[in-house]
Amino acid sequence: MPAGYVHFGVGDKWIEADGKLPDGTPVRFVYGDSAKGDDGKDSVEERGRKLAEVLSEASRWEAGLFGEYRHKSLTISFLDFEELYHPLVAGWNTIVMNMEFAGKNDEPIPATQDMLVHELAHTWLEAIDSKDGDAYVEEAIPTYLQWAWLEKHSHKDLAAKYRDQIKEIQTNGWERTGPYGVSGPGLYGLRRLVGDTALEQTLKDWLPAHAGKPAAWNDFRTTMEKNSGKNLEEFFGAWFPPQSTGRTQPSDKILWPGWSRN
Ligand SMILES: [Zn+2]
Repeated sequence: MPAGYVHFGVGDKWIEADGKLPDGTPVRFVYGDSAKGDDGKDSVEERGRKLAEVLSEASRWEAGLFGEYRHKSLTISFLDFEELYHPLVAGWNTIVMNMEFAGKNDEPIPATQDMLVHELAHTWLEAIDSKDGDAYVEEAIPTYLQWAWLEKHSHKDLAAKYRDQIKEIQTNGWERTGPYGVSGPGLYGLRRLVGDTALEQTLKDWLPAHAGKPAAWNDFRTTMEKNSGKNLEEFFGAWFPPQSTGRTQPSDKILWPGWSRN
């Protein structure tokens, strides 16, 4: 049993399997309720294994951004609870994923591999505490990495995804959109503004500079300003306003730069 691993589960059937990250870190997979449902879906074990197919490549990629893996082991549990509102929980070296989560009208939406990429990033970035409970510090980078992963792994056109996401935000209302909704398009827009190199350097600087102490999202902006030589106050104010002030639609100049309009 890997160090730090405790499995406490209620239910009649659990399957466990061992794996390794490319750097040798032991991984324990736990699959809940392996019985095939009568809805014709794959078992939790089959679905979990398919999600975890990206683990090696994703952890190598994230180690390239955040440095070597910080924990002696990693545990990933795939569950099939009926409670749809708690699909994904990441602790310091633990990822718990439900196979489905609730969509807009509570319809079940299957978990996807990019969500595992997001949760994996949390197991590095949990080392940074969020000053004043600033949710961007916790969620913006893992959420952007889902976009970057879809581009890298599935060759997704992120400019098209940006346009789709803006339409969705406009339908839902800017004021009702939280850090998860804005972080993908906001950080992709930032990348187009400052360039790939400055964004990547800022992601690389982030964890070593702040591990073990509280950070504010403003610290991310100032690091990005240093790496890009650009003043980003207006951009961050528009895309990432303090949660206490509420969100409004960014100006067209910020929302629709040339690259975004085909
Ligand atoms: Zn998250």
